Amino acid sequence: MIKEGELYSGKAKTVYGTDNPEKLIMEFRDSLTAFNGKKKSEVPKKGYYNAQIAAKLLGLLEENGIKTHFDSMLSGNEMVVDAVEIIKIEVIVRNIAAGSLVKKYPFKTGEKLDPPIILFDYKSDEHGDPMINDDIALALHLASKDELTEIRKMALKINSILLKYLDEKGILLPDFKLEFGRYHGKIVLADEISCDTCRFWDKITGESLDKDVFRFDKGDLAAAYREVAKRIVPGINL
Ligand code: 5GP
Repeated sequence: MIKEGELYSGKAKTVYGTDNPEKLIMEFRDSLTAFNGKKKSEVPKKGYYNAQIAAKLLGLLEENGIKTHFDSMLSGNEMVVDAVEIIKIEVIVRNIAAGSLVKKYPFKTGEKLDPPIILFDYKSDEHGDPMINDDIALALHLASKDELTEIRKMALKINSILLKYLDEKGILLPDFKLEFGRYHGKIVLADEISCDTCRFWDKITGESLDKDVFRFDKGDLAAAYREVAKRIVPGINL
């Protein structure tokens, strides 16, 4: 496969074309931002850890019957993915109250949410990723009614698979963000599942092992990401 020109560069990843129009290369960079780009940093090996974690978790989902855009790894921090059409909805799944949920509603941090809560945000930096409902998603033509139903169903199944797997590794999953795309008429899971897009808490200590370490200056980000990589990616070169 030949890597071609840059198509898109986001806050933490860059997407390149390839000589195969069906495939793209997603490069996980060491840069990271929070609070809609207001806080920025660069952490050596962050891209590598996230790419390895995402490859492991997307592979795990594939093994459990979830269609994803994951194809293979080209290098430590470059992933070959299917060229899906991204749906501009951020799907947030919440199992334990934390973050913006606690800020906006009378939940207490750490409170269990059973059944899990699924929220939709409109993926738009310009508008600050506002929360939307089905009516807004339909009115903005972001997805059809059937697609929204399918996305919700897939998000819940993904949640069950991840909860079980991470629990075995001593990791709690309070919440995470998913993105979906369309590929040959089907809804597939796209983007990444990593320490940048999930809250991971150590099951025993409750310590954050995710981007909250950066958001709220909780300590050594690389050490937290390395710990997750060590627990979930067998044989990873740390
Ligand atoms: P919150 O709404 O509490 O800020 O985020 C809920 C969960 O979704 C967290 O795990 C957070 O990492 C993830 N999340 C929500 N929006 C975004 C986003 O725009 N970018 C990334 N990387 N993660 C997000």
